[in-house]
Amino acid sequence: MVSRIIPVDDFDLVIFGATGDLAHRKILPGLYRRFVAGQVPATAQIIGAARTKQDDEAFRAEARAAIQEFAGKGDDLSQLDDFLRHLAYVAIDARGSDGWDELKARIRPEGVHAFYFSVAPALFGDIAQRLASYGIADTNSRIVVEKPFGRDLATARALNQTLAQHFAENQIYRIDHYLGKETVQNLMAVRFANMLFEPLWNAQYVDHVQITVAETVGVGGRGEYYDHSGAMRDMVQNHMMQLLCLIAMEPPYHFDPDAVRDEKLKVIRALEPLEPGDIVRGQYQADGDEPGYLADAGNPQSRTESFVALKVRIANWRWSGTPFYLRTGKRLRARTSEIVVTFKAPPHSIFDESDGPRSNQLVIKLQPNEGMDLTVMIKEPGPGGMRLVQVPLDMSFADALGENGTDMPDAYERLIMDVIRGNQTLFMRGDEVEAAWAWTDPIIADWEAGSKRPEPYDPGSSGPDEALRLLHRDNRRWREIRP
Ligand code: NAP
Repeated sequence: MVSRIIPVDDFDLVIFGATGDLAHRKILPGLYRRFVAGQVPATAQIIGAARTKQDDEAFRAEARAAIQEFAGKGDDLSQLDDFLRHLAYVAIDARGSDGWDELKARIRPEGVHAFYFSVAPALFGDIAQRLASYGIADTNSRIVVEKPFGRDLATARALNQTLAQHFAENQIYRIDHYLGKETVQNLMAVRFANMLFEPLWNAQYVDHVQITVAETVGVGGRGEYYDHSGAMRDMVQNHMMQLLCLIAMEPPYHFDPDAVRDEKLKVIRALEPLEPGDIVRGQYQADGDEPGYLADAGNPQSRTESFVALKVRIANWRWSGTPFYLRTGKRLRARTSEIVVTFKAPPHSIFDESDGPRSNQLVIKLQPNEGMDLTVMIKEPGPGGMRLVQVPLDMSFADALGENGTDMPDAYERLIMDVIRGNQTLFMRGDEVEAAWAWTDPIIADWEAGSKRPEPYDPGSSGPDEALRLLHRDNRRWREIRP
């Protein structure tokens, strides 16, 4: 099945931080892929901006090298020269006056104007203020801001207030790249465009939900930065919270940005405070020559978690009694992100199943390959009597929707095109971010006030044993972490 490409309106996209890692690895390769797909208008302009002094040609050479390095294996690089002609560069200091007049002169009066803040969050306010004071942005302009959006409620609120001085909420696109994944959007399609699941999507039929985001890498070179953050701030408050919302939310009245975000916000507000027994924190240990978390963080006394597992309850009619178990960590057995919805077992089995009737599971895989599996019971083939076997109904999108999945857009490219189209559905609203911090803050405050150290765990494992017990004590078990 070939997806339809709908070109977007002509645009000027300014990337602040165009010489940085994110621009090189994701934004520029993503834009190139949209160009190859035919979605970028012939006159669209992409202006890189950072302090490094260089001209358009030098930036194009930099972008060429980045795209060659970070484009996907199946990407066609034959149109690179044509793409690079869309690129320009302005040397600019977010905290000074250099470059702003030049940027203003480069932006065309017509078309969509979008400004991607791919810089440290400490610069967001400076850039927003200068875009306004130099008369570069107007009420139709859009800004894209990267994570982290604050480190607690107070800082997130302050950042929202700073941006609000210069931009209205409908101009602000807070990016969470998990929301740009094909499968995450498919989750909404599967739930709300089919009759099959929604009637069962509640505490009466769903036993529990697991959300796992596991990484094999440690904190490595980012140790010092990560040590001020930890798994809760880095993963749970944003990405995992967003996944939880999409699973748990009520059907919005329409697939409209604010209708969807209103429903997500209600889920966050319905989260119950966590009990201490519902939380397991961990730190990976050393493994031979590979340093452990404390060495990676450069802080032998660190109490920051590189792993966290939580049992979360949602206090509303739909989910009362159905726990959501969340876990995320570094240096685990495999790199995988998935959501598992485990339905209740049939109330009675007419078959002679030695271990009783088994539950159906809907497994929504986000990483490394996207897709969904629904496990169902069938009769084992052959003449050996009525024996049952559990098999997956595979709904891999790569097979169904594209040749080897290569034409499936990466989250960033999809989200950037949504910015140009002016569609905020897959971006976090300011009140959502604040509500997520309001729930997270007391949990982190408790850890910081206490003296308990995170549990050590072996690299390559599934995390601390305590995390396994979190489910065992409820007579449940985690789905194995596997690629
Ligand atoms: P980075 O590699 O450190 O790049 C920072 C960029 O900001 C560089 O282009 C730098 O260029 C520019 N910059 C720094 N100070 C500036 C100033 N005063 N005025 C103008 N430009 C300035 O950082 P990054 O990894 O790309 O991350 C960018 C943002 O994305 C951060 O908010 C980060 O948290 C977020 N993010 C990154 C990733 C990732 O995978 N990298 C993932 C998720 C979120 P000059 O030195 O030339 O000025």
